[in-house]
Amino acid sequence: MRLGGVTSTRSQALFERAAAVIPGGVNSPVRAFHSVGGTPRFMVRGEGPHLWDADGNRYVDLVSSWGPMILGHAHPAVVDAVRAAAVGGLSFGTPTEGEIELAEEIIDRVAPVNQVRLVNSGTEATMSAIRLARGYTGRRKVVKFAGCYHGHVDALLAQAGSGVATLGLPTSPGVTGAQAADTIVLPYNDLEAVRKAFEENPDEIACVITEAAAGNMGAVAPKHNAELLELCHEHGALLVMDEVMTGFRVSRSGWFGLENVPGDLYTFGKVMSGGLPAAAFGGRAEIMARLAPSGPVYQAGTLSGNPVAVAAGLATLRAATDDVYLKLDANATRLGALFTTALSEAGVAHRVQFAGNLVSVFFTEDEVTDYAGAQAAQTWRFPPFFHALLERGVYPPPSAFEAWFVNAAMTEEDFAVIAEALPHAARAAAEAKQ
Ligand SMILES: *Cc1c(COP(=O)(O)O)cnc(C)c1O
Repeated sequence: MRLGGVTSTRSQALFERAAAVIPGGVNSPVRAFHSVGGTPRFMVRGEGPHLWDADGNRYVDLVSSWGPMILGHAHPAVVDAVRAAAVGGLSFGTPTEGEIELAEEIIDRVAPVNQVRLVNSGTEATMSAIRLARGYTGRRKVVKFAGCYHGHVDALLAQAGSGVATLGLPTSPGVTGAQAADTIVLPYNDLEAVRKAFEENPDEIACVITEAAAGNMGAVAPKHNAELLELCHEHGALLVMDEVMTGFRVSRSGWFGLENVPGDLYTFGKVMSGGLPAAAFGGRAEIMARLAPSGPVYQAGTLSGNPVAVAAGLATLRAATDDVYLKLDANATRLGALFTTALSEAGVAHRVQFAGNLVSVFFTEDEVTDYAGAQAAQTWRFPPFFHALLERGVYPPPSAFEAWFVNAAMTEEDFAVIAEALPHAARAAAEAKQ
């Protein structure tokens, strides 16, 4: 396409081939570059902070597989653990000791969690946590916040219009009104709206599910988690802290480690399985005891607690030392500062936001505290900003509504690549036309 010398001939050919046999050519929508345009890069290899695509281009990876790869790609300790586990058998359909060790590691890190159940994806974790909250409280309704993503659970694909409390409006065809009818969607960081919902639905709300810190509308830190917990308990509801993105990334103990507000139930994924498919939900023992086979709330999985995925997760968490978290924080701060410098010099109105070491850049002057604020930004500046970075060997998240994920393997050289690319991207953003 443009300058920069990056060719994508192989990726283009692969994308055409993929589109014939996979809807939209991808197995998860945001990978398709729909919101930024162009052809997704087909990656062939990852090592440390870098990815290589099918045309041989190298990128500094600022997506880190959407969060999991905090240690960088193909970390030797994780690869060794996976290899050893695989040689010993891929799946038994029986309990294994590794599952206990992973559960113990999670419980040791996140104090409010006494027990966990392992599942295969973050979606499964939130779906099961909601079922358990309903089973435990004997109530139907669920409160979620606009702009928070909890996986593609039917009941959680309901969303509000523009920041107004809406009752059960499904955002996807295939989600029926009935599936979404028990979902109440409210603006993030709006405590009054939650208070009102509890008053208007007495003894009906089973739980409030929230991203402990929001990362799926860009990085938006929570302002009222402590009050949210109080409100839930005042009204006999549970607080479900979705830490699928923040868990074991923003600190050793996830967002809980930064804020210390104990949720009743937690969901985890991404980092805890080190890049293989595994996730978990957990919480107080008395709530988790309601789950089958000890209790009546059914939940199961053929591959749950898979030995290879468990080995990858354990090895990742064991290698995620205090030093790794210091590096993640430092790298996020440094990336944010580079955004600020480049965009200020180019005269682009912007706001760099952090939620722990999740970073994002919004093209607006106002602080973004909810989804309406994120949508009000000049998101049309993002595609040229994105492509200018991509052409210069930096791989950003392909959407204006995503957090940027640093990893601990990044070096001085990687920051030099980013620092060299950003002024071009900032100029492209400045020149963007609506
Ligand atoms: C990624 C994510 C999920 C869904 O996890 P999957 O493994 O993609 O199903 C749920 N909640 C949050 C906060 C996430 O970031």
